[in-house]
Amino acid sequence: MRLSIILTSAGLLLHSANAVEHVVIAHRGASGYLPEHSLVAKAMAHAQGADFLEQDVVLTKDGVPIVLHDIHLETTTDVAAKFPSRHRADGRFYAIDFTLIEIKQLTATQRVDPKTRLPAYRQRFPINGYSYRIHSLEEEIRFIQGLNSSTGRAVGIYTEIKQPTFHQVEGQDITRIVCELLSRYGYGTRKGEACWIQCFEQTALRRLRTEFGWRGNLMMILGGKKKGADGTDYDFLSMPAGMREVAAFADAIGPGIDRVVTWDQQGKPYVSDFTRDAHAAGLQVHWGVVRVDDLPENCPSLDSLHEALFIGARSEGGFTDFPDLTVNWLKAHCLR
Ligand code: CA
Repeated sequence: MRLSIILTSAGLLLHSANAVEHVVIAHRGASGYLPEHSLVAKAMAHAQGADFLEQDVVLTKDGVPIVLHDIHLETTTDVAAKFPSRHRADGRFYAIDFTLIEIKQLTATQRVDPKTRLPAYRQRFPINGYSYRIHSLEEEIRFIQGLNSSTGRAVGIYTEIKQPTFHQVEGQDITRIVCELLSRYGYGTRKGEACWIQCFEQTALRRLRTEFGWRGNLMMILGGKKKGADGTDYDFLSMPAGMREVAAFADAIGPGIDRVVTWDQQGKPYVSDFTRDAHAAGLQVHWGVVRVDDLPENCPSLDSLHEALFIGARSEGGFTDFPDLTVNWLKAHCLR
């Protein structure tokens, strides 16, 4: 076992470098630098050394899984200008009301506030700087496999099934469709392969195991205080008894950073028992989301954040909008 001596603000620490495999997941691609889920953002994250690239997936009207964070289209596309009459009574434009051919006609950009049309992150890539077409999950799998082929790297995919209960109400089984597509590309056969499926609804993850025979990696994402659409109780699943339940069907648990570490007003970190409890249950911890331009409350620096997550909490890794910064931090601390 390789041992590294790491100088941290807490003092000297002996760290076993190969006891924990550290995982850097590019959150919607290198979304801190380029529009979320664009293929250029995926290519950048691939080049920056991310281990996995994330895909959020929803279905079109014709049942095609596309890479889109929201079930709505107006926060990242010009749907309101191209199809002004196609909103529902709530004023929103749902991806599931549009065919793939229609969605391919849309221009997608950096995320905006749908009411003000101002960017969600003003200091990031400009709204008018670059536009792209929304692509299918299958196109992204081919894109990543192509990059792996041309670079000789083995970057994995990390697919989130978005809102299975919503899709079910709309008459679509997104869990089955995504599972079938990933299986066609050879995923879902074993733990340790370069593919994860994640979801906020435990019902979908349980179905993958029991109904569809998925043998690959699964990650249970924890939301906030409110329960999931399928009744998933995130506060319960964040406790040891709940974690043991998760471990019966999943390999990792995905907390918000605030469940793992918080900072006091002096900028001192307090690491919770979350990771210790998860490891005791047999789960890896994949937190989200690291953003250098949107640090947690009272967190003084990106360095403090990375140190608390990787060294303080000894977590395996997580989602970052800035894959290069997380990769470089791990390298600088001999953790990669
Ligand atoms: Ca996601």
